[in-house]
Amino acid sequence: MSAQPMPVGALPDQVVPDRQLHDHRKLGRELELFDSDPLIGAGLPYLRPAGAAVRHALEDYIHELERKAGFQHVYSPVLAKRELYEISGHWDHYRDGMYPPMDIGGEQMLLRPSLCPHHAVIYRSRAHSYRELPLRLAELGGMYRSELSGVLGGLTRVRSIQLNDAHIFCTPDQVAAEAAAALAMIRQAYRALGIEPARYRLSLAGASDKYVGRREMWDRAAAVLRDVLEAAAVPYEAEEGEAAFYGPKIDVQVADSSEREASLSTVQVDFYQPDRFGLEYIGADGAKHRPAMVHRSIIGSLERLLAHLIDVHGGAFPPWLAPVQLALLPIGEDQIAAARVVLSAAIDQGLRAELATDGSLGARIRAHRLVPYQAVIGQAEATAGEVSLRLRDGQKLPPMPAAEALTRIGAQVRARGALT
Ligand SMILES: [Zn+2]
Repeated sequence: MSAQPMPVGALPDQVVPDRQLHDHRKLGRELELFDSDPLIGAGLPYLRPAGAAVRHALEDYIHELERKAGFQHVYSPVLAKRELYEISGHWDHYRDGMYPPMDIGGEQMLLRPSLCPHHAVIYRSRAHSYRELPLRLAELGGMYRSELSGVLGGLTRVRSIQLNDAHIFCTPDQVAAEAAAALAMIRQAYRALGIEPARYRLSLAGASDKYVGRREMWDRAAAVLRDVLEAAAVPYEAEEGEAAFYGPKIDVQVADSSEREASLSTVQVDFYQPDRFGLEYIGADGAKHRPAMVHRSIIGSLERLLAHLIDVHGGAFPPWLAPVQLALLPIGEDQIAAARVVLSAAIDQGLRAELATDGSLGARIRAHRLVPYQAVIGQAEATAGEVSLRLRDGQKLPPMPAAEALTRIGAQVRARGALT
């Protein structure tokens, strides 16, 4: 840092970017959220510290939401023997989307294309009574899809995927309530994330022979999902040929600023994999019964979600998601010590805060234009232990004690509310 006093530049009033075309690939690199390297390979982006901070906030959010909704979290490996996917049906019906087997000590091992088979064997590892159902196993885990390099780009089409996933093992009578609860959770999460579905799609089997199992299973599952959509009073479009190979699903579609559509969240009803894995529970009658599986993802893959959030918010994330939530801007060198005290208190309180000292105040405000809160500290503020808060939308608040400003920002972040 120079010994010169920092000049006070012109203060921009309106620093929010326009809601217009945001290419998440360009903006994501400019904002240093993510990048890729030819040595790692196409479709294998990495997150920089700012992107990792957003992902961490998303993970905390979804884990908390799931815990409150009665989900139990597990971790399972991203590799498994080929036999696991032969049983699940992925080997026969989804092989094109999988990487070729690796020969390890005479056994064929595969990178998993989905988490369902792992959760099915976790369920199967112990006996279950009807009293334990619905049993909801959730995992934010890695999976791999063999995409052609020509379709890869940014975070929307990738080869390595971190999926917010869960499988609910339940009696056939409980399927409708579980699917409805999953749809409600999706809508709740979208409100917190500040995103909206483009449309709801009821994805049904088509004429292809990739759809497995008995016709009656498909009809039952589709009828449940149709009822759930109608009870929630959301408009939807039914489309044939979009189902998973093992069952129909509700797909929640989002659209980017160029109107390109992608599936983000999903609720699926599956009577097939429970059969294949021989899953059971002991009913009230003391006999063995077959549970159903509801597969659901609330926020989808973290890669696709992050791409969509960058696109929708143009990098101006809601405060709870912002990589940096508070920028401390001392007007001159004499206020740096006071700014450091506030910085340290902010970090202690769990806020992501940063001290900016290089350049004119105007330039620093512009450089932090996407940061939701900026605390300007001049001599009067430094002497009184106060800060002058500026909000990203241009609002300027009168000076207030630094502790009060941190309490106010902390409450807004914890409530996962909008910028106020
Ligand atoms: Zn699944």
